[in-house]
This record gives sequence, C-alpha cells and structure tokens, in this order.
Amino acid sequence: MENCIFCKIAEKKIPSTAVYEDDELLAFKDINPAAPVHLLVIPKQHFATLQDAAGEPELLGKMLALAPRLAEEAGCAVGYDADGKPVRGYKTLINSGPDGGQEVYHLHLHVIGGAHPWRGQR
Ligand code: 5GP
Ligand code: ZN
Repeated sequence: MENCIFCKIAEKKIPSTAVYEDDELLAFKDINPAAPVHLLVIPKQHFATLQDAAGEPELLGKMLALAPRLAEEAGCAVGYDADGKPVRGYKTLINSGPDGGQEVYHLHLHVIGGAHPWRGQR
C-alpha cells in the first residue's frame, strides 16, 4: 500500500528497531514509547484496521501469540513471586478507527509494559 508508513517499515524503506521478524510478521519498537517497553506487532500484508483483517483469524492469532514471547525477551513477562502473586506484566492493545484512537491505518498490536501508568484505569 502506497503512502502507508508501516508498509514502508515492513519493506525496510523506513528504518525501525526490529525485535522480531518472520515471513508474515514484524515487531519493532514504538517511536514514541508510552512505557519502558512499547512494541508494535504488524502483519507484513496491509490491512488498514482490525475490521479489515477479521477474515484472517490465523494471522491474528499469530500476532497475539507473539506478545508473550516479546514480553519475555523484553523482561516484562508475567511471573509469580514466592507467595504466588503475579508480578510484572504488560498491556496488549489494538486501536480501531477514529473512535478507537487509531492513528496509523495499518493494523498493529501494541505490547506495552515495564511500568504501570494505566494501573487503576480500564
Ligand atoms: P495507534 O494510535 O494507531 O494505535 O498507534 C500508532 C503508534 O505508532 C503510535 O504509538 C506511534 O508512536 C507509532 N508510530 C507512528 N509512526 C511511527 C514510525 O514511523 N515508527 C515507529 N517505530 N512507530 C511509529
Ligand atoms: Zn500498510
């Protein structure tokens, strides 16, 4: 897709700090991180929104399943303390459309962790 910034990132026409890549997906650091860990997972194929990718459950599953692995590598995976209480963690988020706060119209999954500025919020 012409003039899509994330297509250009997927095609390496614009640089990014990649943390994962395979045939279908690319994960890279958000340029304006909301927390110490802020990664974006994109399909290399252009889908403007989650709505447009609804017919691709396998691809969506792969994107979501990548989040725990990236969190593990970034040091924010959920763990348990000696009392069995969950520690660390991260947020996974897909903004869809203007009312969903989407700014870049190439489907992306945010993986945000390493801090909890949203704690207490929904
Ligand atoms: P949205 O609001 O669409 O869900 O989020 C778009 C995200 O993409 C924002 O967090 C923004 O910081 C990030 N972003 C926008 N342009 C670029 C870019 O050129 N490179 C990288 N790495 N991230 C970008
Ligand atoms: Zn695109």
